[in-house]
Amino acid sequence: MNLILFGPPGSGKGTQAKRLVADRGMVQLSTGDMLRAAIAAGSPMGKQVEPIIAAGHLVPDAIVVGLIEERMPEAEATGGAIFDGFPRNVAQAEVLDAMLEARGGRIDLVVCLTVDDGELLGRITERFKEQGRPDDNPETFKARLGAYYAQTAPLLPYYEDQAKLVKVDGMGSIAEVAKAIDAALETMPA
Ligand code: AMP
Repeated sequence: MNLILFGPPGSGKGTQAKRLVADRGMVQLSTGDMLRAAIAAGSPMGKQVEPIIAAGHLVPDAIVVGLIEERMPEAEATGGAIFDGFPRNVAQAEVLDAMLEARGGRIDLVVCLTVDDGELLGRITERFKEQGRPDDNPETFKARLGAYYAQTAPLLPYYEDQAKLVKVDGMGSIAEVAKAIDAALETMPA
């Protein structure tokens, strides 16, 4: 099964993806984590994306698509992929659909975590204090949220039209949100 965890920055996608990995043996494909690893490694691609991420903008589609493509065999060898932070625009979603189709797969479910903006800002401010991720500073966070509404949220009708979208209230505790995601997954054929 291939699942997309969808939602604005700070909605809990990464936290819930890690839990699903632990519970279900799926592979988390987080383009944000992959890009941060490239920056930490000091690779040419990492150097290219660092200022873009620091500004809170989206990096070029070709880069994230390449990262996902590299990891696809690993996901296929296990129980499937949890896409976290990818796709982030309609062009990426179309490439992902084509990539999966060519491999005989598909996106089975898109879980959108809904959290209001005030709560997101509070969570990201806390994470910035705890982890010091540079793009979590309040100014950059506003740019990231702007990119989400302008470029990523238009994906909701894309998946709604395919009858794959399930909205889950992401305002609760980690355990409550986990329970709601599990309930959505239960509706999927085995
Ligand atoms: P995230 O950890 O998913 O919030 O991603 C952190 C940053 O990495 C984003 O603000 C973007 O600059 C970049 N990024 C991550 N995933 C993508 C993607 N699918 N498309 C474009 N940029 C991305």
